[in-house]
Amino acid sequence: MSVRAPRYSAWSLLRGRFSGPGFWRPLWSGRQLQKAYDVVVVGAGGHGLATAYHLARDHGVRRVAVLEKRLVGYGNVGRNTTIVRSNYLLPQNHYFYEDALRRWETLSRDLNYNVMYSPRGVLDLALSDGEMVSLARRGNAMRLAGIDAELMDRAGVMKFAKELVPAGTRRFDIVGGLLQQRGGTVRHDAVAWGYARAASALGVDIIEDCEVTGLVTTAGVATGVETSQGPVAAGQVVFAVAGHTGAIGTMLGVPLPVETHLLQAMVTEPIKPLINSVLIYVHPHGEVYILQSDRGGVVMGGFLDGFPSYTREGRWSRLEDVVQSAVALLPQIAGLRVLRHWAGTNDMTMDGSFIIDRIRYDNVFLNGGWCYGGFKSIPASGAACAQFVATGTAPDLIRAHTLSRFASGHLLDERGGGPFPVRL
Ligand SMILES: Cc1cc2nc3c(=O)[nH]c(=O)nc-3n(C[C@H](O)[C@H](O)[C@H](O)COP(=O)(O)OP(=O)(O)OC[C@H]3O[C@@H](n4cnc5c(N)ncnc54)[C@H](O)[C@@H]3O)c2cc1C
Repeated sequence: MSVRAPRYSAWSLLRGRFSGPGFWRPLWSGRQLQKAYDVVVVGAGGHGLATAYHLARDHGVRRVAVLEKRLVGYGNVGRNTTIVRSNYLLPQNHYFYEDALRRWETLSRDLNYNVMYSPRGVLDLALSDGEMVSLARRGNAMRLAGIDAELMDRAGVMKFAKELVPAGTRRFDIVGGLLQQRGGTVRHDAVAWGYARAASALGVDIIEDCEVTGLVTTAGVATGVETSQGPVAAGQVVFAVAGHTGAIGTMLGVPLPVETHLLQAMVTEPIKPLINSVLIYVHPHGEVYILQSDRGGVVMGGFLDGFPSYTREGRWSRLEDVVQSAVALLPQIAGLRVLRHWAGTNDMTMDGSFIIDRIRYDNVFLNGGWCYGGFKSIPASGAACAQFVATGTAPDLIRAHTLSRFASGHLLDERGGGPFPVRL
């Protein structure tokens, strides 16, 4: 089902130009908080909004609220580097991320909102024969699962990524790479706005400036949440707060195997089209993943800052590492000025895989531990989490992503999937 957009004629647009901001209709309703809901979703990031949308669209749950302590899109959904891909090693992860990638392909149509999916290709570069073996293993695992992956030698990489000038100036040269052509980018703000608008059109209440401060329980069952706007009764509660997942563990008295870490990114002044895909370059002294935005800015990021923190101010030295790696890869961008840099918080699990599971109570769910993969996963996460909440049974795609795996030792160690400590 698609959501109908308001229709604008040339005349109405012209009239709106002169009649002030009241002309534009808000994308989602500013409805008042009600006293009770079937499902309360905490956090209006990508996962919370997508879960609410699928609860309403796929399962007919009508009384759904998304409670957001700040603004829609204020969190990491609007702070990431927009990369989507499904090139994971483990089946438990690559099938799930492939489900997400297939949904990205049609999301603009489904939401009737242009999220600007751009399958420009994600290319992991290898600098040694050992890394080529590791990439070949991952590519083979993907292909066996029906996911596109292309192992390239050096000549193939240079042909595909013409911006990579021949060796000579580069300190650590490239011997090959693994391409996922259907990987690429999606406009992150549009994802938040598109899901918010579509959920709202289906009757979901999206309440901003409403912080959830506690869970209300009666006789071992959750009955609602305490919020900065007063108590709200709820049949079921879903926490989808990403970087704040650890704080939810504290709220519920459940220590979680999650640490919040800072990740920075930056964008340069715009230039003519230069970088045609997403390039990931990890060398012995650092890492950069780099792409060009539709406006022409060169977007890049690298490793986490390396210490747990909820702050959004990172270390300057991390930015220097990223820039040095970027210039080592693409010497032609050396003179560009950085226009803007920012940071966000990532909820890191120790095995690099996410959690969607019940937490402490039968009717309370945790959607978190997204590490670096929390943007690209949004469409699959929303659909799977909504199915779990609505039916009480975890769909196959997320059955392994339990909280208990950290106690039982059945980890989904995605970090073993390649030479790279960071995978965005
Ligand atoms: C610099 C950077 C680059 C990244 N690049 C990529 C990338 O290229 N690809 C990729 O897949 N991932 C990437 N990520 C990771 C990705 O952005 C996150 O994993 C993902 O956005 C998290 O999910 P979300 O969108 O639901 O989170 P958020 O947008 O952070 O949503 C959580 C919301 O919960 C709200 N909240 C928290 N506590 C409460 C409370 N008590 N009550 C009410 N509301 C609450 C917050 O205000 C927030 O709005 C990157 C992250 C960063 C920081």
